[in-house]
Amino acid sequence: MHSTDQAIRELSQALGSDRVVVDRAGLLQPEQVLVRQFEKAFDYVPEHLPVCILKLRSTEEVADAVRYCNENGLSVIVQTGASSSEDQLLVVNDHTVVFDLSGMDAVVSLDAENMTATVGCGMRLARLEQLANEQGLTTGHWPQSQPLACMGGLVAVRSIGQFSTYYGGIEDMLCGLEAVLPDGQVVRIRNVPRSAAGPDLRHFFMGTEGAIAIITEVTVKLFTHYPDSWWKGAYVVPSFEAGLDAIREVIVKGFRPGVVRLYDKLDMDFNYGGFVELQDGEACMFFVAEGPPSITAAIGAAIDEIAPHHGARAVDTAVVDHWLRVRNDVCKILGTEEIRNRYRETQAFYTTCEVSASWTDIKRIYRNVMANLPGEIDNLLGIGGHVSHSYQNGTNIYFVYVLKAKDPLRMWESDRAVKSAIVTEVLKEPTGGSVHHHGAGKMRANRVADELGSSYDLLRRMKRELDPNGTMNPGCLIPLEAGGVESDG
Ligand SMILES: Cc1cc2nc3c(=O)[nH]c(=O)nc-3n(C[C@H](O)[C@H](O)[C@H](O)COP(=O)(O)OP(=O)(O)OC[C@H]3O[C@@H](n4cnc5c(N)ncnc54)[C@H](O)[C@@H]3O)c2cc1C
Repeated sequence: MHSTDQAIRELSQALGSDRVVVDRAGLLQPEQVLVRQFEKAFDYVPEHLPVCILKLRSTEEVADAVRYCNENGLSVIVQTGASSSEDQLLVVNDHTVVFDLSGMDAVVSLDAENMTATVGCGMRLARLEQLANEQGLTTGHWPQSQPLACMGGLVAVRSIGQFSTYYGGIEDMLCGLEAVLPDGQVVRIRNVPRSAAGPDLRHFFMGTEGAIAIITEVTVKLFTHYPDSWWKGAYVVPSFEAGLDAIREVIVKGFRPGVVRLYDKLDMDFNYGGFVELQDGEACMFFVAEGPPSITAAIGAAIDEIAPHHGARAVDTAVVDHWLRVRNDVCKILGTEEIRNRYRETQAFYTTCEVSASWTDIKRIYRNVMANLPGEIDNLLGIGGHVSHSYQNGTNIYFVYVLKAKDPLRMWESDRAVKSAIVTEVLKEPTGGSVHHHGAGKMRANRVADELGSSYDLLRRMKRELDPNGTMNPGCLIPLEAGGVESDG
C-alpha cells in the first residue's frame, strides 16, 4: 500500500491540487448531512477521515483514479448528492479516497422524440426535472430527497419516488448506463426499449451502492407532464388494516394513482395532526392521480367507489395539498444548526426504516413490530408507520420512530438496534423485504445475507469477481468483519 502522503502527491500531480481536497474542514464533508446526523449535534469526531476527496469530472478521470486506488491498496467511496441515509458514505478506515462526482452533471441529450434523457451521474434530479419541465416533460421521479440527490446515487441505491405507483421506481426508468469497474475498465449498457440478449445487466448495477462499480452516465425515461389534471382524495379509515385492504383493491383492480399513502395515528398526528383528527386505531389514506385528465378522473371515480367498501369516509383534501407543499422541505433543514439545536434540546432522534411484503404478510409485520418493539428497545419513545409505495403483489411500510439518547455520541447504535429488530420481524415472513428503497448501506449490510439466503452467494461472487481487492465502499453490501476486511475474503 502507498503511504497516504504519496497517494495525495501522485493524485494531485495527475488531477491538479485544486481538485484534491486535503484540508480537515473539507474532509469532514459537511454536505454528508445524514452521516451521524444526530451525533453531530454533540461534538462528534469521526473515527476515520478520508485521505482526500477527488473532484472528478470525466469518465477517463474516474477510470484512472479508481485504477490507481485499486492498485495501491486504497479504498474508494463514490458520492454524488451525499443524501443517502443508511451510512453508505461512512468512512470505515484510514485509507479511503472519496470520489466526489457531483461535478459530472452534463446533459448529453434530452430527447423529446424518444422520451429519454442521458446525463452525467452528478446531474441533480431537481435540475433534470426542471430541464424536462421546460419541454413539457417530467422525470416522474420524486424521492423526498429530490432537491439533494443526483442520478448516479439514485441508480446506485435503487431509489423510488413519491409518485411511484404510476411511474415506478428507478428500475422502471433506467434505460442504459455507463460504468467504470474497479480495474478502470469502462462498460456501457445500451439504451434499447427492451432486450432479450441475455440477463438484464442494468439490474447488475442498480443497488450496488458504489461497492462494485462507478456509474458515470445514465439514460432515463421521460414522461409527458400533466401538472394541471391531478385528482386528489383523502379518507379516514377505521384501521390501518382496513386502509391496506382499500389500497389493495384499488391497485389489483388496475388503478394506478401516482401517490398512494396510508398513515397510522402516531405518524399522522406527528406530521399532519392539524389537518385530520384521528380516533385511536383509525388511519388516514390519501391519493393523487397524475396523468391525462380522462385517466385521472376515472381513477378518482374508482377510488371514491372502492374506499367506502372498507369503511372509509372522505375528508377535506387540505391534508393532501399540505403534504404536496411540504413533502421535500426536510431537505432544507438537514445539516443545519436548527435541527442540531432541536436534538440538543430534546435528546431525541426521529428516524425511519422502510420495508416491504406481500399484502398478506405486511399486516402481520406491522402488528408484530408495533407489539414487540417497545418491549425490545428500552429507549424507544414511540413508533408508527405509513405506506407510500404499492404494487400488484404487495406494498411497503415506512416505520417512523423516536429514540431517546442514551449516549448522544452513539445514537447510531440505538438506530441500528431498532432497524435490526424490525428486520427480524420482517424476515419471519416469507415475502418480507428488509430494505425497500434506502439501500442497506452499512446500517443493514449485516442482514443482507439473512434476506438473500441461498442467493447471497451470488452477491459475494459478484463482489469478489469484480472487486477482488475489496476496494469499493468497504462495508456496503458485504459487511466488514472486526478486522476491517471484506467478509467474503
Ligand atoms: C430527507 C431524505 C429523504 C429521502 N427520501 C428518499 C426517497 O423518497 N426515496 C429514496 O429512494 N431515497 C430517499 N432518500 C435516500 C437518498 O436520497 C437516496 O438513497 C438517493 O438515491 C441518494 O442519492 P445521492 O446522489 O445523494 O447518493 P449518495 O448519497 O452520494 O450515494 C449513495 C450511495 O450510492 C453510491 N453512489 C453514489 N454515486 C454513485 C455513482 N455515480 N456510481 C456508483 N455508486 C454511487 C454511494 O457510494 C453510496 O453508497 C432520502 C434521503 C433523505 C436525506
